[in-house]
Amino acid sequence: MTGARVTCHIGVGANLGNPAVTVKQAVERLAILPDTTLSASSSLFRTAPVDAGGGDYVNAVARIETGLAPAALLASLQQIERDFGRERSFRNAPRTLDLDILLYGGQKLADADLTVPHPRMHERAFVLIPLLQLDPFIDIPGRGPAHAFAPGVAGQAIHKL
Ligand code: ATP
Ligand code: MG
Ligand code: MG
Repeated sequence: MTGARVTCHIGVGANLGNPAVTVKQAVERLAILPDTTLSASSSLFRTAPVDAGGGDYVNAVARIETGLAPAALLASLQQIERDFGRERSFRNAPRTLDLDILLYGGQKLADADLTVPHPRMHERAFVLIPLLQLDPFIDIPGRGPAHAFAPGVAGQAIHKL
């Protein structure tokens, strides 16, 4: 039986190998998660690394409707990251694939290994721009309309592929 599903936004980023291919394949993996449907995915965007090393990033945001609980969703995302060969060598290291839970419905979560909304999402053009492409009027729980943060990231270069 399928329980109630929650609309959830996932940030997808890659900057090793062929990042555009990796991002597209990762979104396809989201579409086949158990008890989950992919309802939308943004354009792909190229961004210069901010805190991380390596080459340019390719980023996107996917919107899913999922019956997975937050911890199960995080575990599934981490399995996909591992499948793409991600190694957590050091903080902000270049990575083949990063999958972050940006929003989990209107919920706020503060567990040891999961903070939602993602605490830095409103500071990042590579999150805000694709998110606003999908859902221009979406709220970040506890912070208000996501679009209100767009002027603050206007200095961060981001190019639609
Ligand atoms: P950032 O969080 O600044 O984007 P990052 O994505 O590079 O950094 P990771 O190495 O992917 O960081 O993840 C570090 C830890 O962050 C994970 O082990 C996970 O438990 C935790 N975490 C906390 N909140 C979230 C979230 N909303 N989505 C994904 N991981 C999260
Ligand atoms: Mg991240
Ligand atoms: Mg991450």
